[in-house]
Amino acid sequence: MSQIVRTTQQWQGLDRSHHMHPFTDPRDLNKKGTRVITRAEGVYIWDSEGNKILDGMAGLWCVAVGYGRQELIDAANEQLKTLPYYNSFFQTSTPSQIELSHVLSELTPPGLNRFFFTNSGSEANDTVIRLARYYWKLRGQPTKRTFIGRKFGYHGSTVATSSLSGMAPMHDQDHELLPHFAHIVHPHWYTQGGDLSREEFGLQAARELEKKILELGADNVAAFIGEPCQGAGGGIDPPSTYWPEIQRICKKYDVLLVADEVICGFGRTGEWFGSHTYGIEPDFMPMAKGLSSGYLPIGAVAIHDRIFEVLSEGGKMIHHGFTYSGHPAACAVALANIALIKKEGLVERVKSDIAPYFRATLQQMADAHPIVGELRGVGLIGAVQLVSDKANRTVLPPTHEAPIKAREFAIQNNLIMRPAGLQSLVVAPPLVITRTQVDELVDKMKRSLDQTAQLFG
Ligand code: PLP
Repeated sequence: MSQIVRTTQQWQGLDRSHHMHPFTDPRDLNKKGTRVITRAEGVYIWDSEGNKILDGMAGLWCVAVGYGRQELIDAANEQLKTLPYYNSFFQTSTPSQIELSHVLSELTPPGLNRFFFTNSGSEANDTVIRLARYYWKLRGQPTKRTFIGRKFGYHGSTVATSSLSGMAPMHDQDHELLPHFAHIVHPHWYTQGGDLSREEFGLQAARELEKKILELGADNVAAFIGEPCQGAGGGIDPPSTYWPEIQRICKKYDVLLVADEVICGFGRTGEWFGSHTYGIEPDFMPMAKGLSSGYLPIGAVAIHDRIFEVLSEGGKMIHHGFTYSGHPAACAVALANIALIKKEGLVERVKSDIAPYFRATLQQMADAHPIVGELRGVGLIGAVQLVSDKANRTVLPPTHEAPIKAREFAIQNNLIMRPAGLQSLVVAPPLVITRTQVDELVDKMKRSLDQTAQLFG
């Protein structure tokens, strides 16, 4: 499929007729037609009309090393030629699965030495739900089943992970949450902090976990899950007091701690994992996206030794797995991806060079822009909060169309940025983005926000 064999209109017609898109309003698709992306290189994608677009979202937060990296393509090619598939059920394994588990154990925080492979972030989080509940059963506490997440948390789109997530429109669509899922408030100072300092608010937001545990009964709570910095919820980076207090509470009530690293992992926050950035010591660490830079689908769950010890002492087979758990080609690409991140020093580059520049440039734009209230995020996650009143920290109402319009203006300006929770707009470019490209990104973002402000002004 490397050659364009149809016109854009032909593709749009077929797409309208036969393709159901994820997270898309079919009415919009019918009206406006789909944008067909045909190729990519570095931090740019091209559509079927020949437009060159700066991908400010690294695909869906995943293309860490940028597009077109020969090392990853070669790794997939070699592996497909040698052994295109074999599974890891019933005591079999393949070299790329084994090597990847080993390499990951050297990157993850201490104690996280065991890896279960999945095909996606959703499957990684589903796996955590199953394993955590099994863990408590083996520990003789089978009532510890409830997972506590946060509003605006995003952990996937399967039946279970949409309940684990704190996205109201997903819950509404399904009519209700599954049993044994609960949520606490998201740690967003700008909308909830009032007169408190960020640090005071961080403690207050974390203590909502204690309240929820006491309300549900600690004997019923399996785990707390949070993204180190909330991504799709709007780049919500918690105050420095938040994670230490969450950890204290989890330990006090014997509640497992899950750090969802699907977005934060593999350098995006300026460390290998968001858990390093925020000093989190999780029991489970689901990851995906940056693991293979999105070149092939793969996710994983890092499991702490103390958890795996209990799981393996169950004296039985662990009844969990997927046909493609540890797909050899996906593992080979992940290995090549990690090797490239190391070789090019991308994690260090994010930390000490490109993220500080990215943040400073965005901050300057955000401070001056009349419809932007704050810049949020960490490392190469940048979210700007749209407001109706900057002085009073009044955010736009949830149904306001400005974020969608801003995304449309951005596309016209050849930039991918996307709306996120709390009426914000987020960018999270590949880790290889240059300073000149950051300038281009922020210029285009500003232009799109200017057009949005004019439209609603
Ligand atoms: N967890 C987080 C933090 C995510 O951002 C996502 C996807 O965006 C997921 C889990 C689900 O991953 P996937 O779409 O690969 O199932």
